[in-house]
Amino acid sequence: MKTLLWIQGLTCNGNTQSLLNAENPSFYELFSKIKLLYHPSISYREKIFSVLKKIKEEKVKLDILVVEGAITTDKNFCRIGNLSISEILDTLSKRADFIIAAGNCASYGNIPALYTKNKDIRGLQFKFTEKKGYFSPEFRTRSGYPVINIPGCPMHPAWFTQTVLAILENRKIILDDYNRPKELFMYLPHDGCIRNEYFEWKVESEEFGHKEGCLFYNLGCKGPMTHAPCNKILWNRISSKTRAGSPCLGCTEFNFPLRENYFETKKNIGIPEEVPLGVSKRAYITISGVAKTLKNERLLKKLEETE
Ligand code: SF4
Repeated sequence: MKTLLWIQGLTCNGNTQSLLNAENPSFYELFSKIKLLYHPSISYREKIFSVLKKIKEEKVKLDILVVEGAITTDKNFCRIGNLSISEILDTLSKRADFIIAAGNCASYGNIPALYTKNKDIRGLQFKFTEKKGYFSPEFRTRSGYPVINIPGCPMHPAWFTQTVLAILENRKIILDDYNRPKELFMYLPHDGCIRNEYFEWKVESEEFGHKEGCLFYNLGCKGPMTHAPCNKILWNRISSKTRAGSPCLGCTEFNFPLRENYFETKKNIGIPEEVPLGVSKRAYITISGVAKTLKNERLLKKLEETE
C-alpha cells in the first residue's frame, strides 16, 4: 500500500477541514486505499519523530508528501520539537515520490506571504507569480514531477482526492504553467455558472445573494478569468459562490490575494479593467455593447415572475 504524510507550515488548517468533508471518496474511504503515516491534526504529535527517522533511513517509503501552509526558513515558525518546518521539508522532499501543495498558501504563499513582514515566507515552488518558492524552479521529486499545486483558499476536497487517486492508479498528471493539474484547472468558474445567460445579455446583479443577474459587471466576479472547476465540481455537491450570489474571488490563482476591493469591479471609462480570458478589450466592448442594446426581456424580470 502506498504511503502519505501530511505536514503543515503557516496555515489556518482550512485545507485539512476541507479534506475531512470529502465525499466519494470520503476521507475514510481514501485512507483505506493509502496508508496515512502522519497528519498533525489526526496523529499524536510524537509520532512524527519516529516516522521521520524511518523515512530518513529508508525503512519506510514515502510515496506522497502533502504540505499545507506557506513555508519559511525562519526557525522560530512552525516547529515540531527541535525541528523547523524547513528542516522537516528538506528531509522529506529528498525521499518523496510526489509532493502535493494543498491549498493556495503552500502553492503560492497567499495571505501569510502577503500580510507578514517576513519576506522569506513563500509557497513551495512559487511566490505569487514568480518561480521564487522554497524549492528552485528546477526542483523535481523522485517521480520526475515538480510540486503538484492544488490551490484554493481552501482547496476543494475532491480536487485533492482525485489527484491522489490519479497517483495511486499511475495515471499521468498534466500540469499547467502554475503546476496545477489541467484535468481540474482547465475549467473556469464561469463554465457551468447558472448566471451565464445574464452575463451574455449584460444583466447585472443588483445585490449579493440575489438569484438574478451576473456578478461580473459591478460586484467583482473573477469567474471568467480564474482557473478552477467550482461550477463543475460543486461544493458539498450542492453549490458554489456564484450560484449562491457571491462573486468568485479568484482564490485558486497565483496572484490571490494581491488585488484589492474583492466585491467591486474595477473599471476604466465604464469598461472592466480585466476582461474574460481569451477575449480582447476591443471584442469585449463590441459584444457587450450589442448585448446591452438588444434586451432579453425575460432576464429583466424576477425569476419567480417569468413564464
Ligand atoms: S457570476 Fe461570475 S461566473 Fe457567473 S456568469 Fe457572471 S461572471 Fe461568470
